[in-house]
Amino acid sequence: MILSKNPYSGETLEEHREFTSEDIDKALEKADSRFKQWSKTTFEERAKLMKKAAEELKKNSRDYAETISREMGKPIKQAIAEVEKCAWVCEYYSENAESQLKDLEIETDADQSYVRYAPLGTVLAIMPWNYPFWQVFRFAAPALMAGNVGVLKHASNVMMSANNIQKVFERAGFPEGCFQNLVIGSKKVEEVINDEHVKAVTLTGSTKAGSAVAAAAGKKIKKTVLELGGSNALVVLKDADLEESVKVCVQARFQNTGQSCIAGKRLLLQESIADEFMEKFKKAVKDLKSGDPMEEDTYIGVQAREDLAEDLEDQVQRSVKQGAKIELGGKREGAYYQPTILIGVTREMPVFQEETFGPAIGVTTFKDVDEAVELVNATNFGLGVSVFTQNMEEAKKIIPRFEDGAVFINELVKSDPRLPFGGTKGSGYGRELSHLGIREFVNIQTVYIN
Ligand code: NDP
Repeated sequence: MILSKNPYSGETLEEHREFTSEDIDKALEKADSRFKQWSKTTFEERAKLMKKAAEELKKNSRDYAETISREMGKPIKQAIAEVEKCAWVCEYYSENAESQLKDLEIETDADQSYVRYAPLGTVLAIMPWNYPFWQVFRFAAPALMAGNVGVLKHASNVMMSANNIQKVFERAGFPEGCFQNLVIGSKKVEEVINDEHVKAVTLTGSTKAGSAVAAAAGKKIKKTVLELGGSNALVVLKDADLEESVKVCVQARFQNTGQSCIAGKRLLLQESIADEFMEKFKKAVKDLKSGDPMEEDTYIGVQAREDLAEDLEDQVQRSVKQGAKIELGGKREGAYYQPTILIGVTREMPVFQEETFGPAIGVTTFKDVDEAVELVNATNFGLGVSVFTQNMEEAKKIIPRFEDGAVFINELVKSDPRLPFGGTKGSGYGRELSHLGIREFVNIQTVYIN
């Protein structure tokens, strides 16, 4: 049995019977036979249904959001915003997929030569619980618009949301088999990857899970896209607008109760403004309202599972043993971890080197831009970095020195359907979203006619 459990109240919400091998076979056969028809539909037909999915998400955003909040502790306002963002990605691809995948003429020695983008078939999506809807929709909208079909292996703690996502596509009128939720735990994933009907795999989650899945897919020569953890830096330079950057840094670290791959996890402050920034930052973090995720004014909920809060507590404690100091917070109660600021963080410490997936931030100071760049690049992650400065000339000079998949100036790293999203190093490979994301799961077919 797979359990949906409310991390705030401890109540068991639903028990889900896990699929047997026979159930998995049936679902994958259904997906494959649907693909044969779905891949022949026009962009216009697909777009019509994708627009309906967007309407369904907007119409029932509160219902879907309430399940998210109950199942993984996300404050309700943030859960509604998540569902609405999913409507945006559905609309975006319904409007842009056709032009993004249109044939590309290339002049050569041939009479005519061009590239066409053909769908691959069934794509397996292994997804995490932190944005139970968004992570799935940002895969599903482009995949379905490209003519693929999708099967989902969602995180075990958000199976109710996983079933709801299937419902969104059914209610929108997508033919049966276009998108199916497989009710399975991670032990059954390899069996699904090995199935001949599965052509490619995408995973969002920890580096450990990504590595296991990529190894299994690699054995079968199946393409993977991996969107893994991050330890993004927030770099505040001496000429930053401090009021504004404090606001953005608080949101970058603490929204979604700190459980985001692209959250700003390391705060890097230039020495000359560090004290002034910290005074404002500490006050803003203190003012964040913790509480019941179902209350409209709650900003910090609980973590999605108690073991995740325990992991964070352990990372903080290990860093303290190495000399970091707790400036604020640092206490845990069940799945709730207080918004926490650690100062005196050095690059060897766990809160610097590991992904901290919750409401805790480590602060490190630096002397000059060279040292800042070095600190930013000094982890095995490479998802994104935010730099705060009003000196645009300086900012533009720093951008090419970062190794990350994204550089945001005076803004938190965030996903946007129009922009590519993904990382380097231990943060994974491949891109989601934009015209590049939709081209990950297609056969880029070269046509040469003489
Ligand atoms: P996981 O990476 O373990 O889970 C993400 C997804 O991968 C889930 O669907 C999970 O299934 C599946 N999975 C896990 N291990 C395997 C495996 N060996 N083979 C196939 N599928 C697998 O995240 P956790 O929930 O354990 O969180 C641990 C840490 O991971 C967090 O503290 C955070 O650092 C990081 N993380 C990063 C995310 C991101 O957005 N980059 C999102 C979530 C977590 P199941 O739930 O059934 O185990």
